[in-house]
Amino acid sequence: MASDPDQTDLRQIRNIGIIAHIDAGKTTTTERILYYTGEIHRMGDVDKGNTTTDYLEEERERGITIVAAAITCRWKDAHEQPITINIIDTPGHVDFTAEVERSLRVLDGAVVIFSAVEGVEAQSETVWRQAAKYHVPRLCFINKMDRIGAEFERVYTEIEERLMESNPIPIQIPIGAGPEGTMGEFQGLIDLVAMKALHFKTEDLGSTFTVAEIPDELRLDAEAWRETMLNSLSAFDETFAEEYMAHLDGAELSEAMIHAALRRATLTGRAQPVLCGSSFKYVGVQRLLDAVAAYLPSPLDRPPIVGHHPKKGTQLARKPSPAEPFSSLVFKITNDAHGDLSFVRIYSGSLKAGTRVYNPGKDKKENCSRLYHIRADDREQISVAGTGDIVGIVGLKDSVTGDTLCEAAHPILLERIEFPETVISMSIEPVSSTDKGKLADTLNALAREDPTFTFKVNEETGQTLISGMGELHLEILKNRMTRDYNLKVHVGRPRVSYRETIKKAVRRVEGTCIRQTGGSGLYAKVTIDLEPEAQPKGAPVLHFVNKLKGGVIPHEFIPAIEAGLREEAKSGGRTGYPLVDLKVTLTNGAYHDAGIPWSTSRSRSPTVPITTLIPATLPTASPPPTRCARPSRRPVQSCSSRSCGSRWSRPKTTWATSPATCPAGAL
Ligand code: GDP
Repeated sequence: MASDPDQTDLRQIRNIGIIAHIDAGKTTTTERILYYTGEIHRMGDVDKGNTTTDYLEEERERGITIVAAAITCRWKDAHEQPITINIIDTPGHVDFTAEVERSLRVLDGAVVIFSAVEGVEAQSETVWRQAAKYHVPRLCFINKMDRIGAEFERVYTEIEERLMESNPIPIQIPIGAGPEGTMGEFQGLIDLVAMKALHFKTEDLGSTFTVAEIPDELRLDAEAWRETMLNSLSAFDETFAEEYMAHLDGAELSEAMIHAALRRATLTGRAQPVLCGSSFKYVGVQRLLDAVAAYLPSPLDRPPIVGHHPKKGTQLARKPSPAEPFSSLVFKITNDAHGDLSFVRIYSGSLKAGTRVYNPGKDKKENCSRLYHIRADDREQISVAGTGDIVGIVGLKDSVTGDTLCEAAHPILLERIEFPETVISMSIEPVSSTDKGKLADTLNALAREDPTFTFKVNEETGQTLISGMGELHLEILKNRMTRDYNLKVHVGRPRVSYRETIKKAVRRVEGTCIRQTGGSGLYAKVTIDLEPEAQPKGAPVLHFVNKLKGGVIPHEFIPAIEAGLREEAKSGGRTGYPLVDLKVTLTNGAYHDAGIPWSTSRSRSPTVPITTLIPATLPTASPPPTRCARPSRRPVQSCSSRSCGSRWSRPKTTWATSPATCPAGAL
């Protein structure tokens, strides 16, 4: 990664991710890239467990990527200018999807790898969606053309038809498909821009290749695919459409014109050049690197990063320029024997080692003691990092994944990274009871690294429950406890953490609270509409909208109503599982406080459930006799406390379960 880059250097940087379904060939392709760019001198092999990016013992044993690994390599662009490519090799297993999410949040471009046999797979769709969410421009690489059953055209069509908002543009086609020695075996590529055939030499592990004329029997096919490429590009780019029209009338259409149009189309994020090859058999990887240099964006090609002022709330933007104030995002934390290492993407300005930075989300200054460029499990200390860089910082104490770091004089709060909710839990206990304290420290350390790993202690039983994204995720964490933290643990059987949502909208749900306090009466009523969230996130987020008009309920109570609804959603729906993807609109309400001044209620707790909102906010001496009617699944329930006698019911809708305990808090 470049240090202290000026504008010219920035143009020569590519921060890219390699993303795909598990086993499509991400790690193999990354290893080949490192070899061809001269970063390593011996090519590792996933199957032998000796690749550069799968460096954790667990990754090597299982032959899968678990953590996203950052590496840097250097290549030359079409003008022989050096290009620095920072690559993050991401995991493909669904349990580690958060690694992909946080990588895509900070990367500028991505190479999406598909297997020419399996085609578009479940996780290909997920990573594609994640890249689209962050508007990350993409290239597609159809790998494994050397395997039995490899079919370029089928996978190309699957990309076109199955992936969200995809517009694949073919820029290569394979010569043959299938293993060596079989009929029509995979022999090389046809470059549709240059209209040449490329044959890679296996003797030097594909380091060199020959360029030849397209064999006669493939010429018609190649011309048809080239026409698809030119037509797709014309549909995308007006300048190119005119050049192509002129070409059809006899003008020259140069390779440079096609490359320029491919770059413009790719940078929109809506068109994706498609290449092919076989990383394992050393075919096509250098051409993929050429495409990364030619078409994927530099930090300068990305739009300004947007955030807001932490105190004023006004929207702010930072251009990707060294001249702008420093802004960056912490996207990952790892801890090892040397302590915490925070991975940071710098969006603007520069950062010097030994200086203090500001965390506007926590309103804290942080020490940035040392700075590193990271290369898989290796690190190189640097003194300064600039715009576009991805670096590791040692010294941060309070900052966690998703936090912004910026210049204190020019604060900006960038949008946080959203992580999915955990889906599976299991109990855990140390083998030796003397390790109880160590368990807590270890769980804390692991949770700091991994935002999709959580734990909690059941205060009644003392049992510790750990939660994560799947059985494999939890098993790997359990193994890390033994391996990295020297802590032996027993775990219980995994249990799925179900979530509940509503299928259709329910209008005008009413919740009423009536309370007699001595002579004066209290009365409050709210009416809400419930509907499924338009864009489900699978997280227990409640999208609250206040549409009350004209102060029907004093505005001081609105936050408590919102907090009450959130509590209610958390405590479960029909089946008692937390409600997710719910939009609640407060549409109407009424209140009556019978002589008790509202000012007394300002000290209320902000998290009071809606049903207890009014009673809990009033300075009453003892629990008053109450009668609450509220949305509830069961028709009517009574509190068995004699002093309370509360009753609660749910007359109309199915949105929430009535609480197991008395809403007036008597039991
Ligand atoms: P990842 O999970 O996407 O990182 O995929 P890997 O790089 O770990 O590869 C998964 C398996 O596919 C390994 O056994 C590789 O040797 C194999 N593989 C990767 N690329 C190719 C290829 O181009 N051709 C063939 N035949 N096998 C490949």
